[in-house]
Order: sequence, then structure tokens, then C-alpha cells
Amino acid sequence: MQLRHDWTKEEILEIYNKPMMDLLYEAATIHREFHDPNKVQVSTLLSIKTGGCPEDCGYCPQAARYHTDIEGNDLMSVNQVKAQALRAKASGSSRVCMGAAWRNVKDGPEFDQVLEMVRTINKLDMEVCCTLGMITENQALRLAEAGLYAYNHNLDSSEEYYKEIISTRDFKDRLATIDNVRKTNVTVCSGGIIGMGESVDDRAGMLLALARLNPQPESVPINALVAVEGTPLEDQKTVEIWEMIRMVATTRIVMPLTQVRLSAGRTEMSREGQALCFFAGANSIFAGDKLLTTPNPDVNEDMKMFDALGLIPMKPFAKKSQPKTVEASDSEYVALGEKPKWTRPEHKIERNIEAASKRKSEA
Ligand code: SF4
Repeated sequence: MQLRHDWTKEEILEIYNKPMMDLLYEAATIHREFHDPNKVQVSTLLSIKTGGCPEDCGYCPQAARYHTDIEGNDLMSVNQVKAQALRAKASGSSRVCMGAAWRNVKDGPEFDQVLEMVRTINKLDMEVCCTLGMITENQALRLAEAGLYAYNHNLDSSEEYYKEIISTRDFKDRLATIDNVRKTNVTVCSGGIIGMGESVDDRAGMLLALARLNPQPESVPINALVAVEGTPLEDQKTVEIWEMIRMVATTRIVMPLTQVRLSAGRTEMSREGQALCFFAGANSIFAGDKLLTTPNPDVNEDMKMFDALGLIPMKPFAKKSQPKTVEASDSEYVALGEKPKWTRPEHKIERNIEAASKRKSEA
């Protein structure tokens, strides 16, 4: 089978809307052709800096402008991160993904500290991923040099629907960061969220944008919105498991080599529902009782599910060899003090403005 980058939205919609049994069969067949169906990669997501983000992503409790109950914290220390990584490793995770609620990376002591975290985790023989917002090419190179395995930067939704969710940056800015990561040997992790009020057409549009990237992202997280009180999307209904299965299966078919990650929203899914997602081609999950700030199933529950399904956690570096870590003192790259360029769109999103002003009136 040949990898395709020329999918059309009509073709993707046709796949998404197939009768469920046909869709499952086709996705599972492709999955078996490219992956071991009994191996699932387990990642642990760690919020290394929580809350206070200047962006206005409508789904996110970490945006400073919304009134949510999350507890913010400053950047964690390297030792704290190391301790958490060791715990994650002991419970079967092969990857640690570190998230910081930043609009973009700024060169300076905090980024240097993140680079040290990357070095430390890579030396524990675990895959290291970061999600730090927008980055420049130089920053991507510095992360690569420290031993970063993957960089996460989600497209979130289709280009058209993106404007309904975020007004502080543009869809093209997302692609620019992915492009900067692609100039290094760091793999790309990029996916999105369903259940934000988007249409099926938008879901297909998001998959189209991802599938047309060449190379396609090495991993694609599929999240179901966890509607958090205080955010503009607080009233959105929980995504039906069938929608999740359709999304996973369609992702598997249009991006056969990619690791498809079942991400946020698993607490709302039964084990049987998750089993169907694995059958449809999901081969990665986030483990740990928290996903940045929203709840996630307990690690022991996940291991019981793995046992029941005969699934085996994948070893680290099963897909690509371990990057080398260059120590800070031997670094080839220096901080340039540059900022990623991003657009300031002119559109406004009423529900985001309302959620922000509600916060002010409650303060
Ligand atoms: S999703 Fe990321 S960029 Fe958007 S508000 Fe939350 S932390 Fe900030």
C-alpha cells in the first residue's frame, strides 16, 4: 500500500461515513498491515508549567482569561520532572510528554531548564516529547540537540473551524511551528479535538490538513473535548463513543504509518469502547490520572484493561532510534533571543469574550 498525501475532503468524508462494520474492518486491516495490533505505546503527560496562558483557546482551562478552578504552578524543577519520569517509567510508560502553558518559547533560563529536562529524561532511556507552544527553527534545533524525540503541536480542528475556537493566533501559525520542527530530526505529534461544536466536515478537514503534510505526523492524538466549567466550551455535550471510533478509524486509514493516540476524554469511555478504538487502529494512550489539568483513568485501571485485552505496552524507541543528547557545554547552537512570528487575527469569538468578561465580573 502506498502512502498518500493527496487525499480529498470528499474521500475522507466517505471513509468517515461508511457503515460502522465496513469502517472497522478496513481500518483494522490497514492497522495490521503496518503495526502489531497487540502493542500500544503508553505516554505520560506532565504539566511542567500550569495555567496563566495568554492565549484564548476556547477549550482550555489554562487560559488566564477564563475562570476555572485549576491550580497554576511555575516551571517545575529538573529534579521534580526526573522523579515523575521515573515513576512513569516504572508504571510502563515509554514516553514523557512535557507541557507548558506558554504562547511560545522564549529563549532564557526557563527554556534552558526545559532543555535540561529533555537531556535528563532522554538519559533515562525514555522518549521525550514537549508541547511548549510556538517555536522557532533555532529553538527546535536546540531541543533536538538535547535529545528530544517528539514535539507536539496540535492543529486542533479544520482551518475553517479554528477561527471559532481561537482568536489569538492563526491556523497557519500552527503549520509554521510544525515546519520548524521538521527542519530537525525530531518527530512530529499533531492532532486535534472533537466535540467542540465542529461539523463532520471540519473533522474531515482537520484530517485532510494532517494527511497532506509530507511526511505525515509520526503521531496523531485524537482528543474528545473535556468540557471544563468556566471555559467558553463548558456546555458542549460529551462526544459519543461512535464518533470517537469513526475518527480513530478514519485517521488510521488516511495515515497508515502514524501512531494514533487515544488522548483526552478516556474517562468518559467504557473499556469496551476503548477496545473498539484499539481495534480501529489506535495504538497509543496517555496514562496517568491527569492530562495536564483534566482527569484521566488511573494507571492501574489501564493496566487491567491491557490485561483483559492482551495488549502489551510498547518499548521505547520501537519506531525510531534514540536521539543522542549533547550536553549544554558542548552545544552547537546558542540562544538567538528570537520570537516565533505569528499573526494576530482580527476576528472575534463572542463566546470567548463572554467567558472572559464573566471571569472579570466574578472577580
Ligand atoms: S491550549 Fe495551550 S496555548 Fe491554548 S490556552 Fe491552553 S495552554 Fe495556552
